[in-house]
Amino acid sequence: MINPALVKRFQALVGADNVFAEPADLLTYSYDAAVLEPVRPALALRPASTEALGAVVGLCNQEGLALTVRGSGTNLSGGTIPAQGGVVVLTNALNRILEINRADMYARVEPGVITARFAAAVGREKLFYPPDPGSQAVSTLGGNVAENAGGLRGLKYGVTGDYVMGLRYFDVDGGLVKTGAKTVKCVTGYNLAGLMVGSEGTLGVISEITLKLVPPPQAARAMMAIFDDVQKASQTVAAIIADHIVPATLEFLDNFTIRTVEDYSHAGLPTEAAALLLIEVDGHPAQVAEEAARVEDICRRLGAARVEVAQDAAQRDRIWEARRTALSALAKLKPTTVLEDATVPRSQIPAMIAALGEIARTFNLTIGTFGHAGDGNLHPTICCDKRDRDEWRRVEAAVEAIFHTALELGGTLSGEHGIGLAKSRFLEQETSRATVAWSRRLKMALDPKGILNPGKIIGG
Ligand SMILES: Cc1cc2nc3c(=O)[nH]c(=O)nc-3n(C[C@H](O)[C@H](O)[C@H](O)COP(=O)(O)OP(=O)(O)OC[C@H]3O[C@@H](n4cnc5c(N)ncnc54)[C@H](O)[C@@H]3O)c2cc1C
Repeated sequence: MINPALVKRFQALVGADNVFAEPADLLTYSYDAAVLEPVRPALALRPASTEALGAVVGLCNQEGLALTVRGSGTNLSGGTIPAQGGVVVLTNALNRILEINRADMYARVEPGVITARFAAAVGREKLFYPPDPGSQAVSTLGGNVAENAGGLRGLKYGVTGDYVMGLRYFDVDGGLVKTGAKTVKCVTGYNLAGLMVGSEGTLGVISEITLKLVPPPQAARAMMAIFDDVQKASQTVAAIIADHIVPATLEFLDNFTIRTVEDYSHAGLPTEAAALLLIEVDGHPAQVAEEAARVEDICRRLGAARVEVAQDAAQRDRIWEARRTALSALAKLKPTTVLEDATVPRSQIPAMIAALGEIARTFNLTIGTFGHAGDGNLHPTICCDKRDRDEWRRVEAAVEAIFHTALELGGTLSGEHGIGLAKSRFLEQETSRATVAWSRRLKMALDPKGILNPGKIIGG
C-alpha cells in the first residue's frame, strides 16, 4: 500500500492522468511474457518527460519504494514482474525519436520507442539498424538495451549492445548520468553504458539511448534448406560456420515447429521435413551470389533433400514470416508455453539438438525447437499446462536438464532473454560464488536500499 499523501506527490510529478491504481491496471502490470506467478504493484506511473522520470526515481529512493521499469513487458524472464510490489514505471509515453543523423550514422531515442518503428524510420533515411528481436513489432528500445536483446540477424550483425554508443540514465538518486558519445570511439571514463546494457533495470533507469547505424546491405538472398534428418540439419549449421561463411541469419525449425507453423500461418512449409534451415546472406551483390552458392553447396553436401532459394521479395518475406510466427504458433497449442534460451558453442549444436530430443522423451513432454542456430542459440519450447501438477513437475525438471546440458556443452543459461527472476537461482552454477558476491556488492554500491527492480538477476 502507498499512502494517499505519497500518491499525491506522484500525481504532482507525472500528472493525475498518468497515475494508475485501478485493479485492472495493476493486474495488467503484474506479469510479463515469462511463465511466473504475477505480483501486482501498488501503483503504475507513466512519466511523459525525462524530468518527470528522474523525479519519480528520486522520490522512490527517498521513500524506499521498489521501482520496476516496464517497456512493453515482452521479456521472457520475469524482468518486469514487480517482485516486491511498489511502483511500475511505464516508458510508453517517452517514445520520441530525437535525431537520426545520416552523416555520422547514429540516432538518439527515448527508451519507449518501439523497435520496429525505429528500424523503419532509419530505413527511410537509407540507413540500417540491424538488431531485430522476434518481438520487434512490440518491444521497446529501452527494453532491448536493458536485456541486451538479440534477434534473427545476431550472427552477422551482433546484438543490441553492439549498437549502443551512449546512454543517459537516472541513478537511484534521480541524478542524470551521461556516458558514451556520438563518436565512433570514446574511452572517457568507465564504460558505464557497458554496465547498463543487460542490467535489466537493476542499476539505473535509461532515459536516452544513442544508437549506432550502419549502411544497409545492397543485396540479400534468402533460402530454405529442407532436411529429412535433424542431425544432418544441425551438422550443416556447424559446417557453414566452420567454412567461415557468416550469413546474416541462420535459423532452425524442427518438424514439430514446422507443422505447427504451417497449421497456423499456411505459409507453404514442407510439413514432411524433419528440419528446416532458413538462411539469408547479405552484402555486396557479388559477395551475396558467391556466399549463397557456397551455402547451397554445403547444404546439399551435408544431405539437404532440397534447397529452395527465394526468387523475389514475396518469397523472402514468406520465409521470414514463417520463422517469426514460430512462437505464436506453438503458444496456441496449450495453455502454457515455456520458451528456453540456452545457448551453446556452434560446434555443439548437433549435440544440443540430440539432447533436447532425449529430454523430451525422458520427461514425456512436447517440445518444439526452433531458433538462432547460427548463434548456437536454440529456443526449445515446451507446450504444456501449468495447472497439470504432474506435467508441471516434469517441465521444471526438463528445464533444469536443458540448463545443465547447455553448461556441460560449454554454453550459457541465456543467450538473449536475460536472467530476471526466472534464472537467478542458476547464476552461480554458470559463473562462480565470487561472481555473484561481486555482482551483489556492485548492486549495493549503486542502489543501497535495493529499490531498483529488486529480486532480479542476483536474487532477493
Ligand atoms: C514473441 C517474442 C519474441 C521474442 N524474440 C526475441 C528475440 O528474438 N531476441 C531477444 O533477445 N528477445 C526476444 N524476446 C524477448 C523480449 O522481447 C526482449 O527481451 C525485449 O528486449 C524486451 O523489450 P520490452 O520493451 O518488452 O522490455 P520489458 O519486457 O518491458 O523489460 C525488459 C527489462 O528491461 C527493463 N527496462 C525496460 N525499460 C527500461 C529502461 N528504460 N531503463 C532500465 N531498464 C528498463 C525492465 O525493467 C526489464 O527488466 C521475445 C519475446 C517475445 C514475447
